[in-house]
Amino acid sequence: MYEGPVQDLIDELGKLPGVGPKSAQRIAFHLLSVEPTEIDRLQKALQRVRDGVQFCEVCGTVSDKERCRICSDSRRDRTIICVVEEPKDVQAVERTREFKGLYHVLGGALDPLSGVGPDQLRIRELLARIGNQDDGVDVAEVIIATDPNTEGEATATYLVRMLRDFPGLSVTRLASGLPMGGDLEFADELTLGRALSGRRAM
Ligand SMILES: [Zn+2]
Repeated sequence: MYEGPVQDLIDELGKLPGVGPKSAQRIAFHLLSVEPTEIDRLQKALQRVRDGVQFCEVCGTVSDKERCRICSDSRRDRTIICVVEEPKDVQAVERTREFKGLYHVLGGALDPLSGVGPDQLRIRELLARIGNQDDGVDVAEVIIATDPNTEGEATATYLVRMLRDFPGLSVTRLASGLPMGGDLEFADELTLGRALSGRRAM
Protein backbone atom coordinates (compact mmCIF):
# COMPACT_ATOMS: atom_id res chain seq x y z
CA MET A 1 0.00 0.00 0.00
CA TYR A 2 1.19 3.48 -0.87
CA GLU A 3 -0.05 6.63 0.77
CA GLY A 4 -2.50 9.15 -0.56
CA PRO A 5 -3.11 9.94 -4.22
CA VAL A 6 -0.75 7.30 -5.60
CA GLN A 7 -2.70 4.48 -3.94
CA ASP A 8 -5.99 6.08 -5.00
CA LEU A 9 -4.76 6.08 -8.59
CA ILE A 10 -3.58 2.45 -8.35
CA ASP A 11 -6.97 1.45 -6.90
CA GLU A 12 -8.88 3.18 -9.72
CA LEU A 13 -6.64 1.77 -12.45
CA GLY A 14 -6.96 -1.71 -10.91
CA LYS A 15 -10.72 -1.62 -11.52
CA LEU A 16 -10.19 -1.46 -15.28
CA PRO A 17 -10.66 -4.69 -17.25
CA GLY A 18 -7.42 -6.52 -17.93
CA VAL A 19 -5.41 -4.39 -15.52
CA GLY A 20 -4.06 -6.42 -12.61
CA PRO A 21 -2.50 -4.93 -9.45
CA LYS A 22 1.00 -5.02 -10.94
CA SER A 23 -0.02 -3.26 -14.16
CA ALA A 24 -2.01 -0.70 -12.15
CA GLN A 25 1.12 0.08 -10.16
CA ARG A 26 3.25 0.29 -13.29
CA ILE A 27 0.79 2.67 -15.02
CA ALA A 28 0.48 4.82 -11.89
CA PHE A 29 4.23 5.29 -11.60
CA HIS A 30 4.50 5.92 -15.32
CA LEU A 31 1.93 8.70 -14.96
CA LEU A 32 3.98 10.19 -12.11
CA SER A 33 6.89 10.56 -14.46
CA VAL A 34 5.20 12.09 -17.52
CA GLU A 35 4.84 15.77 -18.40
CA PRO A 36 1.79 17.51 -16.90
CA THR A 37 0.48 18.22 -20.43
CA GLU A 38 0.21 14.48 -21.03
CA ILE A 39 -1.91 14.10 -17.91
CA ASP A 40 -4.06 16.98 -19.14
CA ARG A 41 -4.64 15.18 -22.43
CA LEU A 42 -5.62 11.98 -20.61
CA GLN A 43 -7.92 13.93 -18.33
CA LYS A 44 -9.56 15.65 -21.29
CA ALA A 45 -10.10 12.33 -23.08
CA LEU A 46 -11.73 10.85 -19.97
CA GLN A 47 -13.91 13.93 -19.58
CA ARG A 48 -15.14 13.68 -23.17
CA VAL A 49 -16.08 10.04 -22.61
CA ARG A 50 -17.87 10.96 -19.39
CA ASP A 51 -19.87 13.64 -21.19
CA GLY A 52 -21.11 10.99 -23.59
CA VAL A 53 -19.86 9.72 -26.91
CA GLN A 54 -21.78 9.71 -30.13
CA PHE A 55 -22.82 6.54 -31.91
CA CYS A 56 -23.23 6.22 -35.67
CA GLU A 57 -26.91 6.52 -36.59
CA VAL A 58 -26.54 3.76 -39.18
CA CYS A 59 -24.28 1.05 -37.75
CA GLY A 60 -24.14 1.98 -34.06
CA THR A 61 -20.39 2.11 -33.63
CA VAL A 62 -18.68 4.94 -31.74
CA SER A 63 -18.37 7.92 -34.01
CA ASP A 64 -17.26 11.52 -34.20
CA LYS A 65 -20.25 12.53 -36.30
CA GLU A 66 -23.80 11.33 -36.97
CA ARG A 67 -22.42 8.89 -39.52
CA CYS A 68 -19.17 7.05 -38.86
CA ARG A 69 -16.18 7.04 -41.18
CA ILE A 70 -17.01 3.56 -42.54
CA CYS A 71 -20.70 4.26 -43.24
CA SER A 72 -19.79 7.52 -45.00
CA ASP A 73 -17.11 5.90 -47.16
CA SER A 74 -18.51 5.51 -50.70
CA ARG A 75 -15.86 2.89 -51.54
CA ARG A 76 -17.32 0.40 -49.06
CA ASP A 77 -19.50 -2.39 -50.44
CA ARG A 78 -23.05 -1.58 -49.33
CA THR A 79 -24.42 -5.00 -50.25
CA ILE A 80 -22.68 -6.78 -47.34
CA ILE A 81 -23.29 -6.12 -43.66
CA CYS A 82 -21.12 -7.70 -40.98
CA VAL A 83 -23.01 -7.98 -37.68
CA VAL A 84 -20.86 -7.73 -34.55
CA GLU A 85 -21.51 -7.35 -30.83
CA GLU A 86 -19.40 -4.33 -29.90
CA PRO A 87 -17.55 -1.41 -31.50
CA LYS A 88 -14.25 -3.12 -30.57
CA ASP A 89 -15.25 -6.01 -32.84
CA VAL A 90 -15.50 -3.56 -35.76
CA GLN A 91 -11.87 -2.67 -35.10
CA ALA A 92 -10.93 -6.37 -34.93
CA VAL A 93 -12.51 -7.12 -38.32
CA GLU A 94 -11.04 -3.94 -39.84
CA ARG A 95 -7.56 -5.04 -38.76
CA THR A 96 -7.87 -8.15 -40.95
CA ARG A 97 -8.25 -5.92 -44.07
CA GLU A 98 -10.39 -8.76 -45.46
CA PHE A 99 -13.72 -6.98 -45.27
CA LYS A 100 -14.86 -4.08 -47.42
CA GLY A 101 -18.55 -3.98 -46.54
CA LEU A 102 -20.49 -2.20 -43.79
CA TYR A 103 -21.09 -3.11 -40.16
CA HIS A 104 -23.96 -3.36 -37.74
CA VAL A 105 -23.18 -3.20 -34.02
CA LEU A 106 -25.73 -4.99 -31.83
CA GLY A 107 -24.54 -3.52 -28.56
CA GLY A 108 -24.03 -6.92 -26.91
CA ALA A 109 -25.31 -10.48 -27.18
CA LEU A 110 -28.43 -12.27 -26.03
CA ASP A 111 -28.06 -13.20 -22.38
CA PRO A 112 -31.44 -13.90 -20.76
CA LEU A 113 -29.88 -14.55 -17.33
CA SER A 114 -28.52 -10.99 -17.30
CA GLY A 115 -31.73 -9.58 -18.71
CA VAL A 116 -30.48 -9.00 -22.24
CA GLY A 117 -33.22 -9.94 -24.69
CA PRO A 118 -33.69 -9.07 -28.38
CA ASP A 119 -35.20 -5.68 -27.46
CA GLN A 120 -32.03 -4.65 -25.63
CA LEU A 121 -29.96 -5.19 -28.78
CA ARG A 122 -30.06 -3.24 -32.05
CA ILE A 123 -31.81 -6.10 -33.86
CA ARG A 124 -34.87 -4.10 -34.89
CA GLU A 125 -32.52 -1.52 -36.44
CA LEU A 126 -30.77 -4.29 -38.37
CA LEU A 127 -34.02 -5.64 -39.80
CA ALA A 128 -35.13 -2.12 -40.73
CA ARG A 129 -31.80 -1.52 -42.42
CA ILE A 130 -32.12 -4.64 -44.55
CA GLY A 131 -35.80 -4.03 -45.24
CA ASN A 132 -35.54 -0.50 -46.57
CA GLN A 133 -32.18 0.59 -47.84
CA ASP A 134 -32.32 4.39 -47.91
CA ASP A 135 -29.51 4.57 -50.45
CA GLY A 136 -31.33 2.22 -52.83
CA VAL A 137 -28.75 -0.58 -52.59
CA ASP A 138 -30.09 -4.00 -51.65
CA VAL A 139 -28.28 -5.94 -48.97
CA ALA A 140 -27.25 -9.28 -50.50
CA GLU A 141 -25.39 -10.82 -47.57
CA VAL A 142 -25.34 -10.56 -43.80
CA ILE A 143 -22.29 -12.02 -42.09
CA ILE A 144 -22.95 -12.89 -38.47
CA ALA A 145 -19.72 -12.29 -36.57
CA THR A 146 -20.84 -12.55 -32.96
CA ASP A 147 -18.34 -13.84 -30.40
CA PRO A 148 -17.51 -17.58 -30.41
CA ASN A 149 -19.12 -18.22 -27.02
CA THR A 150 -22.52 -19.33 -25.68
CA GLU A 151 -24.16 -15.89 -25.85
CA GLY A 152 -22.69 -15.19 -29.28
CA GLU A 153 -23.95 -18.52 -30.63
CA ALA A 154 -27.43 -17.95 -29.18
CA THR A 155 -27.50 -14.51 -30.80
CA ALA A 156 -26.39 -15.95 -34.15
CA THR A 157 -29.13 -18.61 -34.03
CA TYR A 158 -31.74 -15.97 -33.24
CA LEU A 159 -30.56 -13.69 -36.05
CA VAL A 160 -30.60 -16.51 -38.60
CA ARG A 161 -34.23 -17.15 -37.69
CA MET A 162 -35.15 -13.48 -38.05
CA LEU A 163 -33.28 -13.06 -41.33
CA ARG A 164 -34.95 -16.03 -43.00
CA ASP A 165 -37.88 -13.79 -43.87
CA PHE A 166 -35.85 -11.77 -46.36
CA PRO A 167 -36.02 -13.45 -49.77
CA GLY A 168 -32.72 -13.64 -51.61
CA LEU A 169 -30.66 -12.60 -48.61
CA SER A 170 -27.68 -14.80 -47.94
CA VAL A 171 -26.84 -15.24 -44.26
CA THR A 172 -23.38 -16.46 -43.38
CA ARG A 173 -21.43 -17.18 -40.21
CA LEU A 174 -17.69 -16.95 -39.61
CA ALA A 175 -15.94 -20.25 -40.24
CA SER A 176 -14.98 -22.26 -37.20
CA GLY A 177 -11.37 -22.11 -36.08
CA LEU A 178 -11.78 -19.14 -33.79
CA PRO A 179 -10.84 -19.95 -30.20
CA MET A 180 -14.10 -21.13 -28.63
CA GLY A 181 -15.34 -19.28 -25.57
CA GLY A 182 -13.34 -16.23 -26.46
CA ASP A 183 -13.94 -12.76 -27.71
CA LEU A 184 -13.70 -11.83 -31.37
CA GLU A 185 -11.18 -9.14 -30.47
CA PHE A 186 -8.76 -11.68 -29.04
CA ALA A 187 -8.44 -13.59 -32.31
CA ASP A 188 -5.34 -12.62 -34.24
CA GLU A 189 -5.77 -10.95 -37.63
CA LEU A 190 -4.78 -14.02 -39.61
CA THR A 191 -7.22 -16.35 -37.84
CA LEU A 192 -10.06 -13.86 -38.01
CA GLY A 193 -9.29 -13.09 -41.65
CA ARG A 194 -9.42 -16.82 -42.47
CA ALA A 195 -12.67 -17.26 -40.54
CA LEU A 196 -14.08 -14.37 -42.56
CA SER A 197 -13.04 -15.60 -45.99
CA GLY A 198 -14.12 -19.16 -45.12
CA ARG A 199 -17.54 -18.09 -43.88
CA ARG A 200 -20.34 -20.56 -44.43
CA ALA A 201 -24.00 -20.20 -45.34
CA MET A 202 -26.50 -20.73 -42.55
ZN1 LIG B 1 -21.57 3.69 -39.10
